[in-house]
Amino acid sequence: MHLSLHRPFSSARPVSATPVGRYAPSPTGQLHLGNARTALLAWLQIRRLGGLFILRMEDLDPSRSIPAYARQIIDDLRWLGLDWDEGPDVGGPCGPYEQSRRQGFYDAVVARFQGEGRIFPCACSRKDLAELARAPHGLHEEGPPYPGICRKLSPEAWEAKLRKKGQCAYRFHVPAGILSFTDAVAGPVSQNVGETVGDFVVRRADGVTAYQLAVVVDDALMGVTHVLRGDDLLTSTPRQILLYQALGLPVPAYCHVPLVLGPDGARLSKRHGDTAIAALREQGISPQKVVGFLAATSGLLPLPEPVHLQELIPHFSEAKLPRQPFRICEGALADLGLSTKKNH
Ligand code: GLU
Repeated sequence: MHLSLHRPFSSARPVSATPVGRYAPSPTGQLHLGNARTALLAWLQIRRLGGLFILRMEDLDPSRSIPAYARQIIDDLRWLGLDWDEGPDVGGPCGPYEQSRRQGFYDAVVARFQGEGRIFPCACSRKDLAELARAPHGLHEEGPPYPGICRKLSPEAWEAKLRKKGQCAYRFHVPAGILSFTDAVAGPVSQNVGETVGDFVVRRADGVTAYQLAVVVDDALMGVTHVLRGDDLLTSTPRQILLYQALGLPVPAYCHVPLVLGPDGARLSKRHGDTAIAALREQGISPQKVVGFLAATSGLLPLPEPVHLQELIPHFSEAKLPRQPFRICEGALADLGLSTKKNH
């Protein structure tokens, strides 16, 4: 690991050949079949490699993170049979393992980026940004690309704008060009970050560190070599790679797995009934049944037969992972004794 990031942080993992993976849930809701599938695939990938597995609680946003969900996620993951070498409840050499307790690390990187002129303060309001909404090319879900408005203002004009708006965010100055990487599931991916996203926020105006920065700082300091996560984050990865490059740090291997969808094709949520692991537990369904079901939907088992997570380790291969999302249909779940119907 590059010394300039390594040296100030006593909790950075020393460089070694050990594969390190992680599961990094946000405690904003209950663990459901979709995020449980991602968690168990991340665990299987790293256990297959004989590496270390970390659980990191991404409770960065105090307005959305609920401690009771964090506790329940830990409980549900353990019930499914996952274990971790480092995490909020077991500690470890690269802690703390809750983002809410890692502000000092993010501040140090923001200060470094400021010193290097890689980030700039931005006083654009929501209204200013909404006015960009007619611009083409943006990532559909994230609105139009930010065209560097505050970066281009003279210092005097910017000061005047800040006085008027009162607070500012910090944005990363995105270099021109196309960023390419190869994902273990999605294959070759290319994105012109400047044209699709533009200069992106690394610290919000309310002082909360943006996910993009926090995830890179944490994965880097924790020595994460393998990132397996939901493919809703595939379009974030080029931004994260830009941050690794700015820090002079090695980029992990990426594996973005398709999501589990409800019968209507939308991402799993409360309106799809009780697909929460806690609800399945309450119905008396065994963890082996849930694991077998998730393994079959992931191409690791031919049939959804009950199985202990440990027994699946030799069956894991990135090449077997599906390229398409899995759409839950009520019939298939009922056959398994997994009902997602609400009982009222
Ligand atoms: N905390 C993110 C989530 O729950 C995952 C972040 C990551 O794996 O990079 O969606």
